[in-house]
Amino acid sequence: ILTFPYKIYCLCIKGFLFYFCDMKSIKQLNQTIQSILAGEKQISERGKYRFICMALAFIHFLLTARFYFLEYTILFLYNILAIALYLVLGLYFSEQKKYAWLYYGCYTEITFFAAFATLLAGWNWGFMIYLIAFTPVSFYLAYSSPLFGHNIKKPLFFVLVTMLVFAVTRILSVHFKPIYTELDFDTNLTVSYLANAIIAFLGLMLFSVLFTIEIRQNEIRLEEQYRLLETISSKDPLTGLINRRSMDHSLLEAVEQSKKSGLVFSVILGDIDDFKRVNDTYGHNVGDKVLVQVADMITKNCTEGCRICRWGGEEILIFVPENEIITKGIAEKIRQSIEKIRVETDADTVSVTMTFGMTEYSPGLPLNKLVSIADNRLYYGKEHGKNQVVSKLPDDAPVLDK
Ligand code: GH3
Ligand code: MG
Ligand code: MG
Repeated sequence: ILTFPYKIYCLCIKGFLFYFCDMKSIKQLNQTIQSILAGEKQISERGKYRFICMALAFIHFLLTARFYFLEYTILFLYNILAIALYLVLGLYFSEQKKYAWLYYGCYTEITFFAAFATLLAGWNWGFMIYLIAFTPVSFYLAYSSPLFGHNIKKPLFFVLVTMLVFAVTRILSVHFKPIYTELDFDTNLTVSYLANAIIAFLGLMLFSVLFTIEIRQNEIRLEEQYRLLETISSKDPLTGLINRRSMDHSLLEAVEQSKKSGLVFSVILGDIDDFKRVNDTYGHNVGDKVLVQVADMITKNCTEGCRICRWGGEEILIFVPENEIITKGIAEKIRQSIEKIRVETDADTVSVTMTFGMTEYSPGLPLNKLVSIADNRLYYGKEHGKNQVVSKLPDDAPVLDK
């Protein structure tokens, strides 16, 4: 017996999904809901208005049935008109992106219907609940939309008008008897009131879900943009290494960890040998290519936990969470790998070497002092033949190492 109504029901759902949600199946609807919840898909302005029109058309459809059985002819006819209105608004105006018309259309219809139906059927039907329920929706639609220039005055004005309509309707309904007399049974009236209240509640609930999703989606978008900005502001665009600002932050963190949990760490400061000559001989572009390859090579040869920074022009500072002995091994490995770099130019093959100064952090040492010790050792290496790792100065070295 139920097969036929079920088929009709399925057909209605499908038609409804197709026309109002641009969806071909319940599965697709389900997938869309999932991706909206996950913040991957945005709810479009068009989608929002279509959904609201569809919900309002559905509410009017339920009311049409109710008024038909009660033989409230005027209200029955009005509701058929209202369904037609929402179909036109939802299907045509949303397609034409005439969202202002949609907003005014929905608002006027809801306000008018609540007052009209109350005056005809009586206050106890609870139609006025719809006016209260639509208040946050109205603010949300007008204030969140670029169409209204995020203007708060418009929804404020509309809600004040609604309040006035609410008050006037209340006064009129006290003074004038409804055209359709109150329902015969109390039960019947209670059911009608409850039905209206529940529909308003469900509508508000649904709206709140959409609203919350939108807030979350905006949060996700902001988080992504923040991460992007953080990456841009902490990286050197040429080599992709972290910049000095970010390295300072890492070193401060390491000092804190050294205080708290006795973290042992070292720094290596490297400088490409005779880099000016590379630029002068082959041009700045080739110099840039060399720099990129040097950065890549260092990254490849560093252990996990290292932080590599473009400290200055062709100076690289490496943070190594290890003691002096292990760090020296890493620096030596890097030095040897740099020797293997070959950058091809039209006429020549360019190779470079690099000199390194390094030191282990001793607790209490200021950070600038730590880097300057590595710098002094680097300078010593430059003065004594370049292409080497200096981890200690000889006792008679003229450079200050304290
Ligand atoms: P040393 O062995 O003593 O370090 O000699 P050097 O020639 O490397 O040292 P110097 O400080 O005289 O020259 C460094 C050069 O690095 C000068 C500058 O033009 C070059 N340089 C700095 N940043 C960049 C860059 O981003 N790209 C290129 N191509 N060159 C750069
Ligand atoms: Mg140099
Ligand atoms: Mg230099």
